[in-house]
Amino acid sequence: MRDTSAETLALNQSMARIKHKILVLSGKGGVGKSTVAVNLAFSLLLANRRVGLLDIDIHGPSIPKLLRLEGHPLGFSDGKIIPAGFGDNLKVVSIGFLTRGDAQAVIWRGPMKANLIRQFLADVQWGELDFLVIDSPPGTGDEPLSVCQLIEKPQGAIIVTTPQQLAVADVRKSINFCRKLNMPVIGIIENMSGFVCPHCGKETFLFSSGGGEQLSSEAGVPFLGRIPLDPELVHSCDNGRPYLYHYSKTATASALENAFKPVLELD
Ligand code: ADP
Repeated sequence: MRDTSAETLALNQSMARIKHKILVLSGKGGVGKSTVAVNLAFSLLLANRRVGLLDIDIHGPSIPKLLRLEGHPLGFSDGKIIPAGFGDNLKVVSIGFLTRGDAQAVIWRGPMKANLIRQFLADVQWGELDFLVIDSPPGTGDEPLSVCQLIEKPQGAIIVTTPQQLAVADVRKSINFCRKLNMPVIGIIENMSGFVCPHCGKETFLFSSGGGEQLSSEAGVPFLGRIPLDPELVHSCDNGRPYLYHYSKTATASALENAFKPVLELD
């Protein structure tokens, strides 16, 4: 029989060593949630914080690709999972480390997902961390629910959306989800908001603009800012080169840093 009290103890001990747990959520896929999660982790790393990045996007884990960690083998030591690392201060675990390449579909039922997430929280050698950034799948399904049930006090959620009404409608659900679980919403980021033509400098709003900001004020949650559509961001994602690490002096980098300010300011 499983010793659930020992499991709970291991989970609580592991989580007690991490000061702030931040979820990155989105209503829809493809709005830049993983891009935000990776850049938040690097922004914290560049501010000399000890950071963990956990990718529980079971149906489409992007973090290995975004960090050039595809095919990374999960190691074990003393019965614990060894995270991938960028130096000593950024530890990374992705569900993608358990699958063989992009093509392998994983079929997980609800309780299996919950068990896996519990293991990733309890049985990884996270050690002492200032922040754990958790990249959840889009929507309000089993995965973010499990995280909220397993972590006693998450610091809160950052919700990523694109500006158009179709995407924003789903963000309302994410806000309601957080409210039902008593999880604070750190704020909303409106991503892919405006494109500045590199030739003439004129800004065009391909996906409309202002949807995220409007919803923030309607729902009474902070608006963290707009991140423009930026082809360099696509290249950096495709090449596994975290944007903030490699392009720190651009307008897009400033927009990201500004959006992350409330998290960077946490003790
Ligand atoms: P999600 O996690 O929401 O599915 P991703 O972070 O994987 O979304 O991003 C989806 C795609 O959009 C990626 O190719 C990424 O490079 C691109 N992308 C994200 N944000 C931006 C942006 N501000 N400008 C341009 N491309 C972006």
